[in-house]
Formats: sequence, structure tokens, C-alpha cells
Amino acid sequence: MNDHIVRALSSAGGIRVLTCGANNLAREVCTLQQASPTVSIALGRGLAGGALFGALLKTGQRIAMKFEGNGPMQKMIIEADADGAVRGCIGNPSAEAGPLDGRWNVPGVLGRAGFLTVTKDIGMGGEPYHGMVQLRSSEIGDDLAYYLTDSEQVPSAIGLGATLDSDGHIAICGGFLVQALPKADSHEIEAILATIAMLPPLAEMLQTGGPEALLGQLFGDIPYTLLETHDLFFRCGCSREKVERALLSFDFQELRDMIDKDGGAEVTCEFCRQAYSFGITDLERLSPFSVTPGTP
Ligand SMILES: [Zn+2]
Repeated sequence: MNDHIVRALSSAGGIRVLTCGANNLAREVCTLQQASPTVSIALGRGLAGGALFGALLKTGQRIAMKFEGNGPMQKMIIEADADGAVRGCIGNPSAEAGPLDGRWNVPGVLGRAGFLTVTKDIGMGGEPYHGMVQLRSSEIGDDLAYYLTDSEQVPSAIGLGATLDSDGHIAICGGFLVQALPKADSHEIEAILATIAMLPPLAEMLQTGGPEALLGQLFGDIPYTLLETHDLFFRCGCSREKVERALLSFDFQELRDMIDKDGGAEVTCEFCRQAYSFGITDLERLSPFSVTPGTP
């Protein structure tokens, strides 16, 4: 089954539910990042969360979420586009932490203290929107739900799940987002919260019925309308031109050192690990100054 996301609205219009399955996307990103088992679970949850946030965007918009904690993983960055493209990277992908009450210790690798920063690029030259909250449980899903509820003022519940196969690669990955919209009926909210509290393990449901079955289970007896389904996929979007622009932000002396001391520069994209090489002549051509030996 292709990785995809499903978006639906209760017939009364008060409850929005999105569910996604992202096994292949998460497996690909975790392999590119060479993530340890616990980091793979964290990254899988982050990527599923990114896919859900991405599906709330309008065409041309992008979202980035940065988890920074005091644990050994250091940071996790997830970026998503409105068209279903998602990418992610980890500060220290080999970080590991022993199990916590028999479960994957995601708070142990991310750290319990830290921040979640969300940046929304609204496109069309508009100013990006920034929001920041403290990490709540460092389990990823809770933190994202708290962000939506606290910072964007939309009461939200999020469940994210990932499992590994015997080789330590992602087997199942996905999740759900439930949001109460302004005209939500309180009985419907209570019903869906009760359903969430009784939900079997997410990975089990995704494996047997995919995102559609999970959606049906969440709504239960509440009538709903399926609004949209679209594919999810990994796309990095880096390019030599973008790396050149990044190099231009270095100051004169840093560029000079790359030329004189290093004899060039090699820049590796932290998301897809593509390496971009710049020789001396490439860097001299890039420099905004006339880069000649001895020029300060
Ligand atoms: Zn890249």
C-alpha cells in the first residue's frame, strides 16, 4: 500500500480527523539518517506528525518543526510541504537510550527538557509564522498536540506510532490528528475522546486496515464525510544552487579560509546526505568580493 493521508470532517462540521500511513517514507528517511532503533521510533513519529501537519497547509505552503531537547539525540527537524513531501534529519542519529517501562524510550533520546519550534512558510512572499512551546512529554505526539492546542488555539489530540522489524528498520509508521473546530458538538468531542482512550495499539490498526480503517474507528458512530486523500513521499528538495546561496551567507574570511586552507569545500545535505563539492575556482566565482590572495 502506498504511503498516504486521509482527511475527513464530521457531518455536523465540528470535528476534523486526519490519519496517515507512512511506512516507506519513514523507512527511507531512517535509513538515510542511519538512525539507531530508538531514534528511528522518534523519527518515524516525527515524520508521521509532519505529514499530518503538512496536510493542514494550503498549496505552496511549507512547515518545519524543530524538536530540541537536552538528550543525546540533540535535535530533530521535520519539514513538510502541502503536496505530501516530507523530510527529516537528526542531530545525533546514533543516540540510544534503554527502554522505559518496557517501551521505546523516546524521551530518553530527545531529553525531557527542551523546545518545539514550528515555522510555517505561508508562501507568496508573506512573513513566515513562528510558534514555540516547551516539550511536554517528549513523546513527539503529545508535544505536537500541545503546540496546536496552546499556540494555534485549536484543541487537538494526536497519536503517532512506529514499529521496527527484526533488522531494526521501520515496519509500520503512521498516526492520527483529531481537532475540535469552533462549532464542535460537546457530545461528539466526548465520544471521540472516549474512543481515543480505548484505542488498540496504532501500529496494529494501521497494519490491518491502513489509515481508512483507523479513520472509521476514530469516528465510531459519528457520521463523517471523506474530504481528501493524497500520497505521502520523501523529497529533499536540496540543490547545488541552494547550497551556493548558503555558502554566500558565510563571511569573507570563512570563504577565504575554505579556499586557502581547505582547497575547496564539500557540503553534505543533512536531510538526504547528498554531497556537493566546490573547488577553489567555484568558491572564487561565488565570493561577493574580489577574492585575491592577501585581500583582507
Ligand atoms: Zn538534500
